[in-house]
Amino acid sequence: MAATVLSYDGIAVLLLSSIAAFGAIVGSFLNVCIVRIPKGVSIVYPSSHCPGCKKPIRFYDNIPLLSYLLLRGRCHFCGDRISPRYFFVELLMASLAAALYYQFGFSLAFFVSFVFVAALIVISFIDLDVRIVPDVISLPGIVAGLLFSVVARYLIDDPFELIPSPLNALVGVVVGGGFLLALAWAYEAFTGVEGMGGGDIKLLAMIGAFLGWTSIPFTLFFASLTGSVIGLGFMIGKGVGRRFALPFAPFLCLGALLYLLFGQDLIQFYLPPH
Ligand SMILES: [Zn+2]
Repeated sequence: MAATVLSYDGIAVLLLSSIAAFGAIVGSFLNVCIVRIPKGVSIVYPSSHCPGCKKPIRFYDNIPLLSYLLLRGRCHFCGDRISPRYFFVELLMASLAAALYYQFGFSLAFFVSFVFVAALIVISFIDLDVRIVPDVISLPGIVAGLLFSVVARYLIDDPFELIPSPLNALVGVVVGGGFLLALAWAYEAFTGVEGMGGGDIKLLAMIGAFLGWTSIPFTLFFASLTGSVIGLGFMIGKGVGRRFALPFAPFLCLGALLYLLFGQDLIQFYLPPH
């Protein structure tokens, strides 16, 4: 009798690793988006090159995660340091891809949440980098979220009930965008300074489109709380002034990610079933 080469668990581990590897490859592409979108240049052409010596990066020096480790974070030609962000984003997308697959298997929920998480990563790192939430991600993101809700309602079943109904998604856009817009107006009316960026408003509308309106209170609460704590820490630690602007989008994205992964439990927490 031929021995079983791979047990059921073995296949599961193999699948999970493949998904993680795929996530790392997508993460590598997200790195390109993070660098190029704020500059308004093409994300497909030309191929990646070292910012130091401008030499094109050879395909075998461009293997997600591995190349960074093998090259010890330096350019093959000029030895310039490569930002650890490249490695971190690849690792992040690889881990999240595996986590999402673990939670949703091969399903519409997996596909939709994968796209959503990729968008959150690009937005977060661009905001950290240049303090902009790019419209080219958030606006198509709003449309994509609404479209996915229609697909889940009429075409492909979503047994995980992750994807909101079209009405819920639409209310999510209005509540997400509207709430921050009202807050920004109020803040400006009282203080005379522009506080909330328009980019954050569009981002929260996108989150509402993907996760439904119930995600908005949690995301905002989480982002405000963690943002304030970390902002305060920065002010005390570095002695920066009160007008120090902390990028808010990464906190919103983190809140949305937690809601995506643990949302079902979180809803029960503040909307107990009756
Ligand atoms: Zn170089």
